[in-house]
Amino acid sequence: QPGTALPTTDDLRARALTSLGHIGVTVPEGTDLFARTPVTGERLLGLTAATAADADEALAATREAFLTWRTTPAPRRGELVRRLGELLRVYQNDLADLVTIEAGKIRSEALGEIQEMIDICDFAVGLSRQLYGRTIASERPGHRLAETWHPLGVVGVISAFNFPAAVWSWNTAVALVCGDTVVWKPSELTPLISLACDHLLARAAEEVGAPRDVHRLLLGDRAIGEKLVDDPRVALVSATGSTRMGREVGPRVAARFGRSLLELGGNNAAIVAPSADPDLAVQGIVFAAAGTAGQRCTTLRRLIVHRDIADSLVARLTAAYRKLPIGDPFDESTLVGPLISPAALDRMRGALDRARDQGGEVLVGGGRRLADAAPRAAYAEPAIVRVPEQTGVVREETFAPILYVLTYDTLDEAIALHNDVPQGLSSSIFTRDQREAEIFLSAEGSDCGIANVNIGTSGAEIGGAFGGEKETGGGRESGSDAWRAYMRSATNTINYSSRLSLAQNVSFL
Ligand code: NAD
Repeated sequence: QPGTALPTTDDLRARALTSLGHIGVTVPEGTDLFARTPVTGERLLGLTAATAADADEALAATREAFLTWRTTPAPRRGELVRRLGELLRVYQNDLADLVTIEAGKIRSEALGEIQEMIDICDFAVGLSRQLYGRTIASERPGHRLAETWHPLGVVGVISAFNFPAAVWSWNTAVALVCGDTVVWKPSELTPLISLACDHLLARAAEEVGAPRDVHRLLLGDRAIGEKLVDDPRVALVSATGSTRMGREVGPRVAARFGRSLLELGGNNAAIVAPSADPDLAVQGIVFAAAGTAGQRCTTLRRLIVHRDIADSLVARLTAAYRKLPIGDPFDESTLVGPLISPAALDRMRGALDRARDQGGEVLVGGGRRLADAAPRAAYAEPAIVRVPEQTGVVREETFAPILYVLTYDTLDEAIALHNDVPQGLSSSIFTRDQREAEIFLSAEGSDCGIANVNIGTSGAEIGGAFGGEKETGGGRESGSDAWRAYMRSATNTINYSSRLSLAQNVSFL
C-alpha cells in the first residue's frame, strides 16, 4: 500500500531544519510554543513566542515605518514585492516542504500553495502601477471632482493553519504595494513556515532598501491576535479562520471603529444537474471534497444531486473514494494526507454520529487509518453520507472530509437548499444546460462570493477577488479590486475658476 510507510518524526525534523537552513532562518528556540507535524502528530521544535511587550514594540515599529513607506512611490513599493516573488521562486521546494510538514498537505498541493504566493506577488507588482482613482463629472462650472486612494496604515494579518503561507501573501503583497505596513499573527499550528516567509520578506526589504519594519511577525496564540484586534494603531484587521473567531474579532474591531476584513468558514455546495458531464463531475467533486483532506475553506461539503442521477453518481463517487490513497503526504502517490490533529478527527467522528442520528447513512469512509504506525496522528478516510434533508449537522462546517448528499427535483428547489445555510463562500453547478448555469450565476441563484460552472468549489485563481457572504464574513482578498480594502479613498473637489459656486445651487453671501 503506497504512502503507508510514514517518515519518522526525526526525519521530518531534519527535513524541516534543512529547509529552514537553505532559506537562512535562525529558529528562535524556546519552550513557549511547539512546532508540530500532523504527519506523525509529534513535536518538532520548541520555540519562543511573542509577548505583549513584543506586540507593542512591533506595532510601534510598523507604525513608524508606515510614515516613510506611505510616501514611497507605489511602483517602488512594487520592487519589494517583485523581489519577494523572486525569492519565493528560488525557495519554492523548501517552502513547500515546510507546508507539508506543518499542515500535512500533499506535495503537489503544497507546491501549489507556494505557486499561489508567487502569482499574487506578480499580480501586486502590476497593481503597484494601477492603483487607479476616478475623475468624476462636477455639477459646477470650473470644477473637477476626483477620487484619490491613500495608504491606510498598519494592517494586522491573522491567519489560519490550512493556508499557512498563501493567505499571508494575499494580504501582505497587496498591502505593501498599497503603502501599508504589516504585522502578522499566523496560526500557532504553523510557526516554521511563518518564520520562513518573514525571513524572505526581510531579506527582500534589505536588498531593495525598503525599511526593515514594513513587516513584523508575532508568533503566538490567540492572545497575541487579540492585541492586534484591540490596538487602535492597527487600521485594518484582516482575519482568516473559523466563524467563531470572526464573531469575536469583528465586533471588537468595530467597537474601536477599526476596519476588518473577515475570511471565515464555508459550507460549500455543488448542484449536479441531469445534463452534467458525469466524468467531469466525478473528478471535480472528488478533488473538491476529499482533496486537502477536506481542510480547505472552499472544500465541497454538500452535494445537491438531481434525483434521476443520484444513485449512479453516488455509486461512482463511493467507488472513487474507496481507491483514494491515504497516507504520507510526501509520497507522490498519496492524495489524502493527515488531518491537522486528533481533535479534528474527533470532530469528524462526532459529526458522522450526529448525521446518523439525524437519519443519514454513511456510504463510505469515516474510518481511521495508520493508527498503529502513528498513534498521535489523525489519518481519516474521507466519507460520503446520504442525508434525507438538510439537517443541523449538514448546515455546519465540520473541517474534515465529509460530503453530505441531498437530492432535488427542480432547480428552484436545488437553489433554495443550496442557499439555506448560514455560510456563503463557494458554490458550483455541474450542467450542460446554459439556462440552468446562468440562473445559478444570477441574482436569484447562488448567494456565495464564489460561484462556478462545471468546476468544483475549491482551487480559486488569484486574479479574482476571494471571499464570501453571510457567516463567511463578507471580506474580499487577492485579485480584482480587493486592493481597495487596504487603502482609504478621499474625494477631492478642485475649483479652477475664479468664482465660488456652491453645490445644489445653494446661495450664501
Ligand atoms: P481558527 O479560527 O481556530 O484560528 C484562525 C486564527 O485566528 C489563528 O491564528 C488563531 O490564533 C486566531 N484566533 C482565534 N481566536 C482569536 C481571537 N479571539 N482573537 C484573535 N485571534 C484569534 O481557525 P483554524 O482552525 O486555524 O482554520 C480553519 C478555519 O479557517 C475554517 O473554519 C476555515 O473555513 C477557515 N478558513 C477560511 C478561509 C477563507 O478565506 N474564508 C481561508 C482559510 C481558512
